[in-house]
Amino acid sequence: MSNAAHKILVVEDEPDIRKLVQYNLLQERYKVLEAEDGEQALKIIQRDKPNLVILDLMLPGLSGIEVCKLLRERPDTAKLPILMLTAKAGEADRVLGLELGADDYLAKPFSPRELVARVRAILRRANGAGQTENLPSYNKGGLKIDFATYEVFARGKTVKLTLKEFELLKFLVQNPNRVLNRDQLLDRVWGGDTFVTPRTVDVHIRRLRKAIEKDDSKPQWILTLRGVGYKFDEKALEQ
Ligand code: CA
Repeated sequence: MSNAAHKILVVEDEPDIRKLVQYNLLQERYKVLEAEDGEQALKIIQRDKPNLVILDLMLPGLSGIEVCKLLRERPDTAKLPILMLTAKAGEADRVLGLELGADDYLAKPFSPRELVARVRAILRRANGAGQTENLPSYNKGGLKIDFATYEVFARGKTVKLTLKEFELLKFLVQNPNRVLNRDQLLDRVWGGDTFVTPRTVDVHIRRLRKAIEKDDSKPQWILTLRGVGYKFDEKALEQ
């Protein structure tokens, strides 16, 4: 998909910043849509189905966080890529944005080049993720998984996993480089099972690391984000 085929919605109430973002995206030949507030953004998203949303945190009316939450709750926009913009560079905002399901985060002031680089990375990831979901196998760097036969190989060696560990690994590799909190993992991997707690996730992650990491005391593939959750670092597979 060329850039021109991608529609990006910029949600920002400050006209100067909106224009700056728009200008830089147009230079890269993206199609750009604009919204001044959250309500307008939701309408445009429903009507024009953008491929990515650049969402400012501080908006009049519905805040960026509320918009993000609403988008994640709706099945048709649950996976819509979101790049959050914020004036605050604080760790708490960053964690909050990612926890609510933003794909990435950029603090103001940002360089236009950085913004464009992030947009490109998120779109590449989003397009790639859609493909891996239907692939019969996963094969990157030191990790190979056959989804049909449930075989897993780490650095060329067969790895024995329980069914749940396998499903957890499958979900992680299908959502690479993304912060996944315990509730999301419980929901997606354990589904309606009510006898599990967030601790269950930690226990399974620990076992999975023992099975596939080179040194499970220094995990490189499945990373912990303290207080938030876990992230499967796909780039580390190539090392
Ligand atoms: Ca703003």
